[in-house]
Amino acid sequence: MKIIFATGNKNKLKEILEIMEGTGFGIISAGDAGINSDPEETGSSFEENALIKARAVFELTDRTAVVMADDSGLCIDALGGERGELGIHSARFMGHDTSYEIKNREIIKRLEAVPEEERTARFVCAVAAILPSGQEIAVRESMEGFIAHKIAGENGFGYDPIFYLPEFGMTSAEISAGSKNLVSHRGKALRHMRAVLSEVRL
Ligand code: IMP
Repeated sequence: MKIIFATGNKNKLKEILEIMEGTGFGIISAGDAGINSDPEETGSSFEENALIKARAVFELTDRTAVVMADDSGLCIDALGGERGELGIHSARFMGHDTSYEIKNREIIKRLEAVPEEERTARFVCAVAAILPSGQEIAVRESMEGFIAHKIAGENGFGYDPIFYLPEFGMTSAEISAGSKNLVSHRGKALRHMRAVLSEVRL
């Protein structure tokens, strides 16, 4: 089965290809399929935004492939959670052009006075798929953790260096790529979608 993945984010695409490796799904990015699309993410949930991205690409295809897209973000309870300053606005927090080094430092500063038990956060990922028939499917998964007191780790991307995973005793930028894919919001959501797709007739 051919899947066109609607993302221009190289870090995400790398994780997506690793997670879907060996599943028999042939994945190419929208860019590699010659499709350029960057719709405005006007939805009020991760699912809606994932569907907006998938629909924008689907409309530019010949409708023979499955089009998939993800929308993800870091929900920090002390900063308003899913619809707060980050959440569905995670990529836009402090502006698209601000480095994650600066964004991560700012988040740590804002949480300076927040007690341990209130530093809860989760990475959320919604994956949307549009089948050649036009049927739309969306799933969501998350990974629970805490906002760390300092930046740590070189793996992963984005907010990984400040996302502390209690079960590992380190941030998601310190664990290996393989470990992250096993427990991450994106890993779980893609495997969930894979299971749903294996049940539908294409
Ligand atoms: P999207 O491309 O609109 O889905 O935006 C995702 C935002 O959440 C970006 O700012 C990413 O840096 C952040 N994000 C999503 N998943 C992860 C992750 O696995 N690690 C670190 N940051 C992530």
